[in-house]
Amino acid sequence: MPEETVFRKIINKEIPSDILYQDDYVTAFRDIAPQAPTHILIIPNKLIATVNDIEIEDEQLIGKMYTVAKNIAKQQGIAKSGYRLIMNCNQDGGQEVYHIHLHLLGGKQLGNLL
Ligand code: AMP
Repeated sequence: MPEETVFRKIINKEIPSDILYQDDYVTAFRDIAPQAPTHILIIPNKLIATVNDIEIEDEQLIGKMYTVAKNIAKQQGIAKSGYRLIMNCNQDGGQEVYHIHLHLLGGKQLGNLL
């Protein structure tokens, strides 16, 4: 079994965080160290450590994360101006918290990554 991370405490509201959306499957909250004017993390409530650990049975859950992300982008007023969704995987991908999370970044011109 993968080890729980600080994100479990956020899901369970055991530590303070700025939660924008939560249902039985997904939680979205503001990143504590924002890299853009809007920087929100969308996570599954179920612990999946890395993208490598996503199973076929998780496909609907992963899809839901994107639906929540685009709804939040609209609520935050950045849907039209645009935004970036990023999921880092393992060391070379820059992953620090081993509970998958979709970064929703926007509110400024983000520049090219590739
Ligand atoms: P990553 O490098 O893709 O694993 O991203 C982890 C993200 O989690 C970073 O952007 C951190 O700023 C963010 N983070 C870590 N701890 C917290 C926390 N307690 N509340 C909100 N965001 C956090």
